Amino acid sequence: MTDVRLSVVVPCYNEEASVERLHVAVTAAIAELSDVDLEMVYVDDGSADGTLAALRRLAAADPSVCYTSLSRNFGKEAAMLAGLERASGDAVVIMDADLQHPPRLLPHMVALYRQGFDQVIARRDRHGDRLLRMLASRSFYRLVNWWIDVRLLDGAGDFRLLSRLAVDAVLAMPEYNRFSKGLFSWIGFRTVVVAHRNESRRAGRSRWTFGTLFNYAFDGLLSFNNRPLRLAIYGGLSLTLIAVVYMAWVVADAVSKGIDVPGYTTIIVSVIGLGGLQMAILGVIGEYIGRIYYETKRRPHYLVQETEDLSRQRPLRRAAGESVVGGLPVAPAGDTPAQPEIG
Ligand code: UDP
Ligand code: MG
Repeated sequence: MTDVRLSVVVPCYNEEASVERLHVAVTAAIAELSDVDLEMVYVDDGSADGTLAALRRLAAADPSVCYTSLSRNFGKEAAMLAGLERASGDAVVIMDADLQHPPRLLPHMVALYRQGFDQVIARRDRHGDRLLRMLASRSFYRLVNWWIDVRLLDGAGDFRLLSRLAVDAVLAMPEYNRFSKGLFSWIGFRTVVVAHRNESRRAGRSRWTFGTLFNYAFDGLLSFNNRPLRLAIYGGLSLTLIAVVYMAWVVADAVSKGIDVPGYTTIIVSVIGLGGLQMAILGVIGEYIGRIYYETKRRPHYLVQETEDLSRQRPLRRAAGESVVGGLPVAPAGDTPAQPEIG
């Protein structure tokens, strides 16, 4: 069997307590496989703790480690993108630093990749989740699957193996507002799901609060189609229809029984109701315009402050013959391995 070059991408934000443990666990899991060549791609997403120092130590001790440290906290989506752009493997696994994604699954995932799958999705059960969180997630998935054009699987997060084909497909989508769960589902390819038991976070704490999860859910609903705008049109048309019917009834009533004193309650209720509806619809339109605004700026998704071979800062500016790819300064061909042409 030919050797597989496997890249493991790990976004890290304030994970000093976990990265080293994760590194040991992943290398041990891969060491079982004699025909896999491992590359660890860590992305420090502007951590404020000792994460970067830990990554420098790992890179100094282990030649299979490369790391990219972003200039500030850009969010997990940007950190994952940075990692995917750096990964050079035939297959790439994305996993969290907090050991919630068990490295012991890696050999099985690689075996499935060898069988020809382009996406191996690790799906967790909801063991140990709080009831409220579980109910909220369930309703989110039900709503989202009814609503948007791509299928999202409850419990399937970002822990997955992607073949080079799938990685290149994800990287070919340059959008600024990235909703990876949707992007991964959108690209398709031969996909298989492996189930595993939910693990709780070993150290540190989750960055998700109910508020951020709610915003994330909202992003998911708006990111994949323009159905909310359709709904606004249909809502508006239905209300107009109701108003026309009501108007006909009022006119008929006035003609048959003479002029009545106008109903104060009806007027107030319709003014408030319609006002609220118009604000909500404007909000939806505003969300889409906001997205267009961000897309048109074409800013890089992230900026790089340091990597293991550009150790310590190097100013991010274009020297002659140099290009900046996805925020990463790239020296002219020959000095560094080729980078994908994605910004
Ligand atoms: N993460 C990141 N940038 C952020 C927030 C999180 O790179 O702004 C990383 C974090 O270090 C971890 C992964 O994304 O490796 C998942 O984060 P977390 O554990 O907070 O999310 P949860 O597991 O609760 O979904
Ligand atoms: Mg976690």
